[in-house]
Amino acid sequence: MQAEPVLVAGLIEACRATIAANTDHLCALDCAIGDGDHGTNMQRGCEAVSAERVALSSLPFPDAVEKIGMTLVMNIGGAAGPLYGTLLMEIGRELRARDGAADFPVVLKSAIDAVAKRGRAHAGDKTLLDVLYPVQDALAQHSPLNDIARRAELSASLTAAMKAMRGRASYLGDRSIGHVDPGASSCALLTTAICRYLGE
Ligand code: ADP
Ligand code: MG
Ligand code: MG
Repeated sequence: MQAEPVLVAGLIEACRATIAANTDHLCALDCAIGDGDHGTNMQRGCEAVSAERVALSSLPFPDAVEKIGMTLVMNIGGAAGPLYGTLLMEIGRELRARDGAADFPVVLKSAIDAVAKRGRAHAGDKTLLDVLYPVQDALAQHSPLNDIARRAELSASLTAAMKAMRGRASYLGDRSIGHVDPGASSCALLTTAICRYLGE
């Protein structure tokens, strides 16, 4: 494993780059079943985190993750801000509480549950949870990084068949069916970027 400052800066850049490359795509997905801003929301959040990457890299890993979550809450705007923010803040807090003895899949599971609680959403509601839970499952099964990324991409594509039960897309009812959920797609892109970076 790399030294923490390199790891944090590398992960931030990997995430920023994939969102920058897919901003239009994510906005197009959100145009179909929402208000068309998911790509620009995520880009704003990632750029804000990236601007703080030097300071973030000097923090202990759990503190850096928690702080990234706070920056996302303040900058993403829209539904995705508090949800991605909660995910990272909870991961950071749990890692710190377990003080180096953390089992990452367990930490991730409790952070995803916090996101679900925050959004009053469940698996199958056509949200980013429909990527997060399968990724957590793959991680808990010690799947190779490539397989985790593939599972994330497949899970995002499967949201097309779901009816949205939460967020703006839920206003469309059955008309949300047939479209990939933008939050699930950003989550798969970020998972793939993180897996690729960690595999390098
Ligand atoms: P907004 O809908 O406010 O414009 P975004 O477009 O940035 O926010 O984010 C939309 C995404 O947020 C959706 O595609 C979905 O994945 C996720 N989302 C929205 N509401 C919820 C919720 N209550 N619980 C979980 N995820 C949600
Ligand atoms: Mg939107
Ligand atoms: Mg919006």
